[in-house]
Amino acid sequence: MQSRLLLVSNRLPVTLTAGEGGLHVQQSVGGLATALLSVHGASESRWIGWPGLVTDVSGAEVLAALAPHRAVPVPLSAAEVKAYYDGYCNGVLWPLCHYLLDKVRLDQRDEWAAYRAVNERFADAVAAQWKPGDLVWVHDYHLALVPALVRQRCPGARIGFFLHVPFPGPEVFRILPRRAEVLRGILGADVVGFHTASYAYSFAYACSQVLGLELSGDVLTDDGRPVRVGAFPIGIDADAFAARAATPEVRARAEALRLDSQGRKLLLSVDRFDYTKGHVHRLLALERLLQLRPELKDQLHVIQLMVPTREQVDAYADYRSTVNELAGRINGTFGSPTHTLVHLLHRSVEPDELSALYAAADVMLVTPLRDGMNLVAKEYVASRIDDAGVLVLSEFAGAATELHEAVQVNPYDLDALAGAMSRAIDMPVFEQRLAMVALRKTVHAGGVAGWAAGFIEALEQSPEATQGAPSIALEQAMAIVTAAPRLVLVLDYDGTLVEFSPSPRTATPDKALLELLTRLSQRPGTSVHVVSGRSRESLEAFFGELELGLHGEHGLWSRPDRKAEWRSRSPVPPTWLEPVRRILERVARRTDGALLEVKSGGVAFHYRATEPQLARRRLEELRAALEGDAQAGEFEVLEGRRVLEVRPRGVNKGAVVPELLASAPGATVLALGDDRTDEALFAALPPGAVAVHVGSGQSIARYRVSGVTAARALLKRVADTSRADRTPPPEALQASPSPG
Ligand code: UDP
Repeated sequence: MQSRLLLVSNRLPVTLTAGEGGLHVQQSVGGLATALLSVHGASESRWIGWPGLVTDVSGAEVLAALAPHRAVPVPLSAAEVKAYYDGYCNGVLWPLCHYLLDKVRLDQRDEWAAYRAVNERFADAVAAQWKPGDLVWVHDYHLALVPALVRQRCPGARIGFFLHVPFPGPEVFRILPRRAEVLRGILGADVVGFHTASYAYSFAYACSQVLGLELSGDVLTDDGRPVRVGAFPIGIDADAFAARAATPEVRARAEALRLDSQGRKLLLSVDRFDYTKGHVHRLLALERLLQLRPELKDQLHVIQLMVPTREQVDAYADYRSTVNELAGRINGTFGSPTHTLVHLLHRSVEPDELSALYAAADVMLVTPLRDGMNLVAKEYVASRIDDAGVLVLSEFAGAATELHEAVQVNPYDLDALAGAMSRAIDMPVFEQRLAMVALRKTVHAGGVAGWAAGFIEALEQSPEATQGAPSIALEQAMAIVTAAPRLVLVLDYDGTLVEFSPSPRTATPDKALLELLTRLSQRPGTSVHVVSGRSRESLEAFFGELELGLHGEHGLWSRPDRKAEWRSRSPVPPTWLEPVRRILERVARRTDGALLEVKSGGVAFHYRATEPQLARRRLEELRAALEGDAQAGEFEVLEGRRVLEVRPRGVNKGAVVPELLASAPGATVLALGDDRTDEALFAALPPGAVAVHVGSGQSIARYRVSGVTAARALLKRVADTSRADRTPPPEALQASPSPG
């Protein structure tokens, strides 16, 4: 790896505790720390995070303790830990991402403020470390705002973000009051990674629903900046787990555990003691199983290892008593003075002990209600070097997308969960072996180092941020434009002057845009035309008071200047409009998020807020229906950005160009547009005109800017150029460009 890596996570890979005799440094536990140590150890990286201390310790002492680990501390006060970590991270985002809506505490103004402030602090710490060429890799829901905050501070940085928890379906995510800020924060990254393709899809869909962004392939485009969204399932160091399981110490301990079980089957679960892990459902299902098959009460030994976690968060206190009571009830009903059926262990164990538990367990119960990945499932499989044992796995763990041969189950369905336990208990050895061999192969194929390397490779390949940096060729063309004695500006509206928003109705011009257009229209020798697919009524409402030429419905209607009347280029309404409108309306009614815009000479089917797969199906249906229409020869169907337009054949944005030129002979033309409907406009421009495509994608325009912000910046330069400035450099005049 050539670039230096700045890893950013809430916790550092080492935890500091203040004790007698100074600071103690301990390796942090958990999957994330282990996974990232493989890249941190191997390169000149820095790791930025909270060292776990809230007591007053002098800065120099902390720095000295962390320096050997190349760890950079972000200090947090006790109040911040309470509001940011316990309050917003674990009181709002954690339960939301795990679909446990009754636990989400949405009205959290102070906690949100703390979350924002701490994210700012992290971004400051990154900016202080960052040098050109460094890669920044931000981790998890604690730091969702950091990518955008780092981009503000270091515009040229390449930034990755990885979410280790599930990204919920958009219908759930949209509940979050700060949903737009959280998405915008994450979108500051160049690459956004998740454990499964379905989380990646949910994120992309949420961006489209909440922010109106567009997904093409696996790239979201945010104001012209590509953000790659993808699945990078995390693995474990399977060889290390297999090797540990093979040591004499672990073998002996596993044997001792088996003896303890006295010939009973050992059912094991290992999780942090978190309400997402499904302890309660698991015990209820066990109780049900014992009710259905009472003979099992003497044949089973159940160990639930529950590693303490987040004990300061309110939701966890009740959980503990519920689980304890339930285990007591099962033991009271089905146990005996000589046999405690369910053992609850509220603690963590050393790696050898864990390995022995894995090796001894006949059935491993990994049944979280929802889990980003779940490494325990993979660790169990990797530890089964005897190819025996059965993994019962929740469908709602990310690992379920890879571990197909596990006994998969819906943990909310207690009958199904009891049934899965029953099946696992009875599974013949040959069947266990068949499944375990396949599972081990999968777990060994996807390692942890490969996971980190895969993500970093994607980040290294991401295009560098080019926001707001026009090409040299465009710079030269702009010198000509700004120096021209007579200038005609031809501007598309949606996607060019304003961002796409989830509904076309909300994409109204903001104050800054109105001011910009006013200044351009008042610029000497300059006429400004907005050429849009929108109706003339919308354009009139948006811009009626400005000295602009307005052209609606792709040039069907024109009002060449403020005093002129609107007139149409083709008879309205066309005879096909009503039958076509009926077809589109029927489909729109069955399509969540779709919106019909009926204009005088055409109709547009907007699907910005529609779930993308549904949108694709409906478009196929519409195309087929419209092709079959008897009058199909009289209209044309055009696909713009998240809109299907039906309009009179032959009417397109290019139709306005000859009249504009006739009214300003010899003028230089600058045209900006972002979608396919603007291509006809570009094609109709005269030689010497400067055509600029806004955003990514194919275009015949010779020049390109990244997005709306860059397009507005270009126009602002035109507005800012006074007469005195308008003498082009000689080399610019020689490079007279023509539209492509
Ligand atoms: N683990 C641990 N100490 C224990 C038991 C388990 O450190 O006493 C580890 C376990 O080996 C696994 C991690 O905790 O690597 C749990 O990761 P997982 O993805 O299953 O769940 P998470 O805790 O991240 O939600």
